[in-house]
This record gives sequence, structure tokens and C-alpha cells, in this order.
Amino acid sequence: MAASEPYDLVIQYGRVVTASDTVEADVAVTGGKIAAIGHGLQGREYLDARGLLVLPGGVDPHVHLQYPQGPNRVVSADDWLTGTVAAACGGTTTVIDFVEARPGQTWMQAFEARRDQAAAQAVIDFSFHMSFNRADAASLAEVKTVLEAGMSSFKIYMAYDGIRLTDAEMLLALEAVAEHDALAIVHAENHAVIMRLVERQLAAGHVEPRWHPHTRPAAGEAEATERALALAEIAGASMHIVHVTAERGLEAIRRSRARGLPVTGEVCTQHLLLTDALYDKEGFEPAKVCMAPPLRKPSDLAAMWAGLRDGGLDFVVTDHCPFTYAQKSGRRRSPEFRKLPGGTVQTDPEAPWSEGLPSFNQIPGGGPGIETRMPLVYHHGVNAGRLSLSDFVNLTSTAAARLYRLYPRKGTIAPGADADLVLFDPDREVTITADALHQNVDYTPYEAMTVKGWPRTVLSRGEVIVREEAFVGTIGRGSYLSRP
Ligand code: MN
Repeated sequence: MAASEPYDLVIQYGRVVTASDTVEADVAVTGGKIAAIGHGLQGREYLDARGLLVLPGGVDPHVHLQYPQGPNRVVSADDWLTGTVAAACGGTTTVIDFVEARPGQTWMQAFEARRDQAAAQAVIDFSFHMSFNRADAASLAEVKTVLEAGMSSFKIYMAYDGIRLTDAEMLLALEAVAEHDALAIVHAENHAVIMRLVERQLAAGHVEPRWHPHTRPAAGEAEATERALALAEIAGASMHIVHVTAERGLEAIRRSRARGLPVTGEVCTQHLLLTDALYDKEGFEPAKVCMAPPLRKPSDLAAMWAGLRDGGLDFVVTDHCPFTYAQKSGRRRSPEFRKLPGGTVQTDPEAPWSEGLPSFNQIPGGGPGIETRMPLVYHHGVNAGRLSLSDFVNLTSTAAARLYRLYPRKGTIAPGADADLVLFDPDREVTITADALHQNVDYTPYEAMTVKGWPRTVLSRGEVIVREEAFVGTIGRGSYLSRP
């Protein structure tokens, strides 16, 4: 570009933060990409970032939008529109979701359907992990094709009937992952132990949601983590452990890393900030925090923060998989309302999927978090003195972009990168309430918590999609990201 030609847009006077440093500088954007970082840059348009942090857009690589979960196929309440609008308003500009083939469907057929569903509605860029939900010859033969379609990470579940792999199957899967230099990402819990403990609680008449955490003990997660890491070592595969919650599981990851093995781990916002005391609430209320793994003890929360600080854990995700209270209660398969950028609409009545309240093991698992991740980690990390600004950027954006081969297109502010940027106001105080959020769900576990620091303006590929906290983007503008 000629020196005289102005850039499309210049973001002026902000404090630009990356995973490595913080500088006072202007950021110039042209053609949807970052063109320059410096001073006195000339633009056709300007954004004033005085007093604001200019951050790389958040990367949340663990979300479940519009996901028909479990045998009842209750669909997670955020679809590709409401979920990505919520993500954008919370400062996240890239999500990685999952492809889960149904019986009779090839992995690639499932991918194409899921990609088209997302592309029609998503307002930010998106990618997928392929669920390694069977290890038959046809699926193993599909691994190469899946990689060529841009999914270089495969999810393996050690729990959940219907999608989990046995150890023998997991070994085959990991060998295929290793052969193709891909990454295995693993939900580590001990399936047999869970099944037995669920059976025991139900037999004792303990059907309420408060019993859920008693069936998914931290030691079972730690055991499965150690087993998964051993299988990865045997197969020679790179492995990432999703939603680490227990100190003992984290220690297993640290030991593997200390031995030089290619192992990483993540933690969810809720496992940093919420404890299992929430299961003591009255009646059916704890259904809202029925998720797997469950919320843990305060000592585990402290261990997770320590893991983020010492590198035992690599980044923070949400596992965003919300269900409305009516869905949790068995009264609806799909959500009863849809929060659109222009207002909320009610959806048609439908038959319940459960007769009466479901027992704890039948409740759709998961909770909301896609919109509150960045502010919560900022507040409890940076404001609380646990994380530096660069740590915060690394843990919410850069490290995940690197692991999942999106870097340097995503996860940084540097010439040539996509102009996915967040103008973050470190002084803005917000008391979180479900009503004010864009997430398509009628509660948040962070209700009434106050945080200082909130995204004000968000850009995706140079386009302002959130302006002064209001979504202004267009439906379906998000693109599929191939990750070779
Ligand atoms: Mn998940």
C-alpha cells in the first residue's frame, strides 16, 4: 500500500495487549486484517479507544451450540445465532464446537450438515472438533478425510453411553490420531464408577439434582485422566484434557508434561469460580448446575488458579451448553424463547420429554457461560492480582489459537492477523444478570455477581459487530475456519 493511502480503519489511543506485551499504540485495519500498529496512522474511519484495552478477540474452543444432547435429544438453548451473538457481546470472536455423527451417518456427512447449520447463522468465525464417537474400520478410514476438511482435533469421551470409547477402542483412536499428527481431546471420567454410583443413589431414592455430584467423584476424574495419558503415551499421541476440575487430575497432567510428553489441559470458568455448595440449594434448583464434571471444592478451585499461573493448565473455556429451566425440568425439548438481537420471541409449545421432574441422571447436562467468560476471568484474574494482562490474553485467546492451529490468524494483534479485536473497558462495572445477557437462557450461575471490566466494542475481521455493548452485526457473517 502506498504510504499516502489511508487504512480502512484506525483504532486510536488504546492500550494494545498481546500475550507477550502491552503498548500504547494505534491499530490500523485494512481488508479485514491488521495492517499496522504504530502512531499517527491515517484511516478512512477511526475508533477512539482512549482509556480502553485493545485485545485480540477471545477464542472459546469448547462450546456446544444447538446440540441435541443425550437419548432425549434435548437441544441446547443457544443456537448458532443467539450463541454467537452472546459470544461476541462477551468479547469472544472465535468458537470451536463439535461434530457428532449419528448412527448411519458418516463423520463427513455430519460435518457438512453441522457446518451448513452454523454458516447460515453464526455471526463470528467458527470451527469444529470431530467427535471420535466410534472406532470401527469405516470411521478409522475417515480420519484422513476429516483432517483434510480442517478438523485436526478429535474428541474422545471416556464417559457417556452411545459416544464413549472403551480403552481398547481408545487405543485404536489414539493410534490413528498419532499417525496423522492430529490432537486427541479427552473428556476424562471413570464411566463404570459413575454408572455404579448412579445406580446406588437411585436405589436409595436419591433422585434430586443435589445427588448429581456424589456420582462423579474427583478421584474418578483423576483416574481417567491418568489412564488417558497412559494410553496417549502408548500410542504416541498428543493429548489435551478438557475441563480439568480436580487437583489430582491436574497433577497427572503436570507429571506428564514434566516428562516431556505433548500434553495440555484446560479449565472452565465455572470450575474456577463456583463451588459444589450450589448443589445444596433447595428442590430442583441445583439442576441449573448439573454438569459433568460437577462443581468441586474450594481447594480444587484454588488448585485450578494455581494451574493457570504455573502453566499446568493452558487456557480457560466455557463448555457452554445451556438449557432453560423448563428444558432442565423436562417440560421442553427446545427452548421456549429465542433472544434475537431485536428482542425476545416465544417459540411454539411442545410436548414435555419427561413425565414430572427428571431424576438427576436424566437432567440435560451443562450450563451457560459463553458471554461472561472474558469479564469473569478478567475480574477474578487481573483485578484480583492473579494474572497479568498478557496472561489474561494468553489464557482467553492466544494459547487456544495456538493449540488448535488458528494462530497467527487468530489469537494475536499483529500485521496479517484477522482484525478480531475487543475494545475492553477496564473501568466498566457490571452486575451480571441473566436478563441483560444475550445468552438464550433464563438464568446464569453468576447472577448478581459484580465484575469490573467489560467489552464495549468488538470487531470481527475488521467489521464492528458490537458497538457500545449493542450487537450490530449481520446474521450468518461468520465463516468456517479450516484448521490444517
Ligand atoms: Mn463439553
